[in-house]
Amino acid sequence: MADLKFTPETRMMIDGKLVEADSRKTFDNINPATEEVAGVVADAGVAEMQRAIAAARRSFDQTDWSTNHSFRKKCLEQLQEALEAEREELREELIVEVGTPRVLTYSAQLDAPLAEGILWPAKMIDEFAWERDMGIAEAFGTRHRRAIWKEAMGVVGAIVPWNYPFEVTINKIAQILATGNTTVLKPAPDTPWNATRLGRLVAEKTDIPAGVFNVVTSSDHLVGEELTLSPLVDQISFTGSTVTGKRIMEKGAATLKRVFLELGGKSAAIVLDDADFSAVLPATASVCAHGGQGCAMQTRLLVPRSRLDEAVELASLGMANFPYGDPQSMDVVMGPLVSEKQMNRVLGYIEKGKAEGGEVVVGGGRPAHLPKGWYVEPTLFVNVENSATIAQEEIFGPVMVVIPFDDDDDAVRIANDSHYGLSGGVFGGDMERATNVARRIRTGSISVNGGSWYGADMPYGGYKDSGIGRQNGTEGFDQYLETKIIAWPAD
Ligand code: NAD
Repeated sequence: MADLKFTPETRMMIDGKLVEADSRKTFDNINPATEEVAGVVADAGVAEMQRAIAAARRSFDQTDWSTNHSFRKKCLEQLQEALEAEREELREELIVEVGTPRVLTYSAQLDAPLAEGILWPAKMIDEFAWERDMGIAEAFGTRHRRAIWKEAMGVVGAIVPWNYPFEVTINKIAQILATGNTTVLKPAPDTPWNATRLGRLVAEKTDIPAGVFNVVTSSDHLVGEELTLSPLVDQISFTGSTVTGKRIMEKGAATLKRVFLELGGKSAAIVLDDADFSAVLPATASVCAHGGQGCAMQTRLLVPRSRLDEAVELASLGMANFPYGDPQSMDVVMGPLVSEKQMNRVLGYIEKGKAEGGEVVVGGGRPAHLPKGWYVEPTLFVNVENSATIAQEEIFGPVMVVIPFDDDDDAVRIANDSHYGLSGGVFGGDMERATNVARRIRTGSISVNGGSWYGADMPYGGYKDSGIGRQNGTEGFDQYLETKIIAWPAD
C-alpha cells in the first residue's frame, strides 16, 4: 500500500452506520500518476444498495427532515465545518485518487465548491419561497383562497463521475439535502474516497438523522443501476456520460423517475477576426487542464479561414508549452488521465483522428519522458472536418481540433452542428458582435472573452444531448422539489 498523507475512509455509510460490504469484499483505488494501489474501499452488491435505499425512504417518510427547515440548515452548517476541518486531507486525497493537479484543488476541484456549494443552498432554505399566496379567485361560481406549496421530492439517487468528484458531489448533495430530500450517493469506482469521507463526516460530525444521507461504493456500475430501478427512489440526479444518462432515463421510465441529467459536451471556442489573437489563441490550450477531463472544455477551436495559419501557429504554441506532469507539483495544470481505460480511449480517438485524415501538429501519443502514469500529450489536430469523429464525439482528453470558418454565420453553424449543447466561448474585440454570436449558440452556458459563469448561484446544464435540468442556482434548487397547489373557500 502507498504511504499516504491522509487517512482514507474505506467503509460505506448506510442508515447512519459506517459499514463494510456484506461479502467483506473491497476493490482497489489506484493512483493514476503512479499506477500503484493507493488503498481499498468497500465493494457493495445490490443488497447493500437496497438497504441504503430503504433507509433513505424510511427517513424521508418517518422523520421531520423534509419539513424542519432550521434543523436542516444547522446540519448543513455542521457539515461545512467538518469538511473545512479536513480540507487539507481532502486536498491530498483528491490529488491521489483523481490524479488532479494540486493547483486545481485551490479552485474547481476543492476550494471553489467548498466555499459556497453547501452554504449557498443553506442560505436558500431561509430565502426560498416555500409557499406563495395566490390570492382569492372565483371558480365555478364561488370564491377560493389559493396557494402554491413547494415540497421535497422524496428519495434522490445521486450518481457522480470521477473527473471533478467532490465538486459534482457537493453541489448535488447540498441542494438535495437543503430541499428536504433524503439521498443515496453512488460515487464512480475510480474516485470513491472523497464520498466515503463525506459519509464519515455526516455520521460523526453532524446531527443529520440516520438514513437521510447514505453512501454506497461498488466496482460494479449495475449496483448504481438499482437506484434507477427501485420504486422507492423518486428522482435521479446524475452527472456523467450521455450514454449512461440515456440508459438511466430508459431504466427509470418504468417507475416514472424524475431525472436530472448533466451529461457530456463538445463545446466550441469561436475566435472572431477582431479578437486579440496573440492573447487568446495560446490560452485556448487550457482545454488540457486536468487532462481535458472536463465536460465544459472548448475542444473545437473555430478560427477565421483568412487567418488560419496564424491561428494554428499561436494555438500550437500554447499546446506545446502546456505544463503537465506529476500532479503533486504546483507547476503543472495537467496530470495523468484517471485510468488506463480512459488513457486508451483517448489514444484510440487520436488514432481515429489520424485515420480520418486529421493532421497532428502537436503531441499525438504518450509522452516518452513519463514512463509511469496514464499520461497523454497535449494534442492539436488540423485538417479536421466538423463531421469527423474527433470533432463530434467527446474525447475527454487533452485533444483539441482546429476548424476554419468563413464568417460569423458560418461559425455559428459549425458550433451548433453538434448533438451536444453544453458550453462554449466567443472571443472578439467588438463586445456587441461577440455577444450577438454568443446569443445564437445553442448551449446551456457560454463565455464571452473568457468571462466565467461558475458559481453556486448559477444554474449550470446542457441543451440537446448534454442533459436535462440544471445544477445549482434557484433552477437547480427547484428541481429537487414537487409543486402542490392548495385552495380553501374564501368566505
Ligand atoms: P459514466 O457515465 O461512465 O459514469 C458516471 C457514473 O455513473 C459513475 O458513478 C458510474 O458508476 C455510474 N453508472 C454507470 N453505469 C450506470 C448505470 N447503468 N446505472 C447507474 N449508474 C451508472 O461517466 P464517467 O466516465 O464517470 O464521467 C465522464 C463523463 O461525465 C463525461 O461524459 C463528462 O462529460 C461527463 N460529465 C458531465 C458533467 C456535466 O456537468 N455536464 C460534469 C462532469 C462530467
